[in-house]
Amino acid sequence: MCGIVGYIGNQEAYPILIKGLHRLEYRGYDSAGIALINPSGDLNIYKTKGRVSDLEEFCDSKDISATIGIAHTRWATHGEPNNANAHPHYSETENLALIHNGIIENYAVLKEQLMQKGYHFLSNTDTEVLIQLIEYIQTLNHVDVCTALQLALGQVIGAYAIAVMEKGNPDQIIVARKSSPLVLGIGENEFFIASDASPIIEYTNKVIYLEDEEIAIVKRHEQPRIVTIGNVEKTREIIQLELSLSQLEKGGFPHFMLKEIFEQPHTLRDCMRGRVDVTCNNIVLSGILDHRERFLQAKRIIILACGTSWHAGLIGEYLIEEICRIPVEVEYSSEFRYRHPVIYPDDIIIAISQSGETADTLAAIELAKKEGAFVYGICNVVGSSIPRNTHSGSYTHVGPELGVASTKAFTAQLCVLTMMALCIAREKKVLPQSRILELLHELNLIPDKIEQILNANDSIQKLSNIFTYAHNFIYLGRGYNYPVALEGALKLKEISYIHAEGYPAAEMKHGPIALIDNEMPVVVIATDNDMYEKVISNIQEIKARNGRVIAIVSETDTVVKSIADYVIEVPATEDCFEPLLTTIPLQLLSYHIAVNKRRDVDMPRNLAKSVTVE
Ligand code: GLU
Repeated sequence: MCGIVGYIGNQEAYPILIKGLHRLEYRGYDSAGIALINPSGDLNIYKTKGRVSDLEEFCDSKDISATIGIAHTRWATHGEPNNANAHPHYSETENLALIHNGIIENYAVLKEQLMQKGYHFLSNTDTEVLIQLIEYIQTLNHVDVCTALQLALGQVIGAYAIAVMEKGNPDQIIVARKSSPLVLGIGENEFFIASDASPIIEYTNKVIYLEDEEIAIVKRHEQPRIVTIGNVEKTREIIQLELSLSQLEKGGFPHFMLKEIFEQPHTLRDCMRGRVDVTCNNIVLSGILDHRERFLQAKRIIILACGTSWHAGLIGEYLIEEICRIPVEVEYSSEFRYRHPVIYPDDIIIAISQSGETADTLAAIELAKKEGAFVYGICNVVGSSIPRNTHSGSYTHVGPELGVASTKAFTAQLCVLTMMALCIAREKKVLPQSRILELLHELNLIPDKIEQILNANDSIQKLSNIFTYAHNFIYLGRGYNYPVALEGALKLKEISYIHAEGYPAAEMKHGPIALIDNEMPVVVIATDNDMYEKVISNIQEIKARNGRVIAIVSETDTVVKSIADYVIEVPATEDCFEPLLTTIPLQLLSYHIAVNKRRDVDMPRNLAKSVTVE
């Protein structure tokens, strides 16, 4: 959600900042801006509603000479997306400029106080309040900007990643964070600041992740100094990143989303590498084995997540209950954190988040930890906040996911949950070893089977042409494929803006069936599993009301093929692994419909990739 970039060094800052903003575009935003201190010492701000390319156009006629600057893509929370609300924001005297990611919750009170003291506001944002407050404190107490920032942040309630520049101080950028990510890139006599490593990686792989309530003073020729808001000096280790630039480019695909869908055979192999060993008939998930007793004693598992990760969690519930016989609850992090949940010290919490920065999930984790529960994270972004704030966990290892609509991260989350279930079941001895091995060997075949499904891309594209102009969609599935139906509907909504709902197929007759007519496409996951006969009856009910059925079927199917209007085949697998396969055609269908509708597939409107506000 929103992007922050900063640069200080010997090179021209503007091209680095603009390129950085482009790299962060995937996070979702609605306006962009930049602040530069030119060689004469002027602190200039240029900003505009719209895309980074609009900002570039806007800057065409402007003075962009500078070797220091900060830049921002805004995802509006307070005040509509317009030029005035875009960041950076000046302070009253225009001596300071600030960019901010997050929310200042007590902005209204602070704003009122500042207005009474004669401060004027040019925007409706919460952010502008912070920069005015910093300047007010600086002037009142005759302190430097860093001290003023510390004092100001002491008064602020909320979440932030910020960067501040001061006119007359062209050799310094100050940054701070709380509950929003911020990374420092350490180059040769140059420093980078960003919301994640993607704008930094082409210049240096040495980074420092700031912790909550830490401030970094980044000066031109010195190593960054890190202090807390309370002014305690800190040392943070420099981490070497393994990210490569090619992972951030489209590699010949028209969109990141399509690239990421096609990467799945390979990302799942990466996810299983070193964990699933079919030659030695072994599964090793150190995050579990290092805490074996905790898992053996767990009476209950609570899965916390949001959005697509929540769908992965639902499948995890089915898997863990079936395979490990441990009761599982799946909760939206945003609800869990505020509903006074009962948490026992022997509960295990599994927190799932692609970015590892999801604000609600982070807050829910804190709550669970306070109650003594053991927290296991499933995240993709290495070094992000959730892995750093959990007791144990597993990375999904799919590389950067840049399409806003999650695809490869989702299947890898399923893969991790599957490996967890198998590993726990073996340790608990609740499943015969022979059955565990059977499942392990089948899991190992999943990437090949996904490759087979991807071969049907052209025919799915043709099918998408028929449904591009539908106004509504229903997705149905049962058992393991019920959450897949939810995910299929979400994917379509996210990138095509077509209204879509997912239901457990049997629930249809309790309401949604009223919507069925000859204009309603119904996507039914009707693979040959334990639920097959039941789902066939549901399809008959739809056909009896003239609904148009697109069925995801097993290759060997004959019955559904004879009653559905359109079918997409997937190879056979164990019931519990079906979501790893049935998800793929639904991703492709959504993708092609969205492309047909000329949607901005990788950056759908209003959505952000990493939801760092609650
Ligand atoms: N709350 C700030 C605003 O609405 C920052 C939003 C963001 O994270 O981009 O301007």
